[in-house]
Amino acid sequence: MERITIAIDGYSSCGKSTLAKALAKALDYVYVDSGAMYRAVTLYFLNHQVDIRDEEAVKLALKNISISFKNIKGKNTTFLNQQNVEHEIRTMQVSNFVSPVAAIPIVRRKVVRQQREMGKEKGIVMDGRDIGTVVFKDAELKIFLVADPDIRAERRYRELLAKGLDVERKAIKANLLERDHIDSTRADSPLRQAEDAIVIDNSFLNEQEQLSKALILAQERINSKARL
Ligand code: C5P
Repeated sequence: MERITIAIDGYSSCGKSTLAKALAKALDYVYVDSGAMYRAVTLYFLNHQVDIRDEEAVKLALKNISISFKNIKGKNTTFLNQQNVEHEIRTMQVSNFVSPVAAIPIVRRKVVRQQREMGKEKGIVMDGRDIGTVVFKDAELKIFLVADPDIRAERRYRELLAKGLDVERKAIKANLLERDHIDSTRADSPLRQAEDAIVIDNSFLNEQEQLSKALILAQERINSKARL
């Protein structure tokens, strides 16, 4: 069967990773959480007190960062310099600092290079902010997910609570809106809908419903590639 590249972009906490994981599983594709890579860089910067206004310090730090993913007990798990950081990269401390870090061009250059390498063989679903517009401009399927901000904040709140993190609803919504703002107004690779992306509003869709819609689109693209 033909294999394609699927890019899923959208604002924070729109359910991108839920959809991307489910799609990858259904199609037997690789799933890559691009946000986890920016979070891992951010964690390193926080742990090593890297001043993000100091370009030389940022460059030096980037040389010492290696990010990888492993499947552990069926879960996609992020590693920073061979250490499992999956839990740490989801804390509010990282969430509050990640967007300024992700706005730095040399950070993006390093991360995007690795992402393109991971997608070389196709058969990949990657979610993020710039996947359809920058990383995989020629992806056969681009989805732009949207959802009501209050629904997004509530979902993220429940997700973090379930992980045992001590969080406040208000702080979560403020963080989402702040990240949306920084991510969509930065100069390098701002979050925006690719012209050829299909919009799915999942405010009132459950996981199965959004997966069904996306699978129909993916199947169409796979079939039309096979006909070429
Ligand atoms: O997807 P997630 O919310 O974990 O992403 C964390 C942050 O990483 C985003 O708010 C954004 O600043 C940055 N990001 C990015 N480009 C991507 C994925 C994430 O700039 N492709």
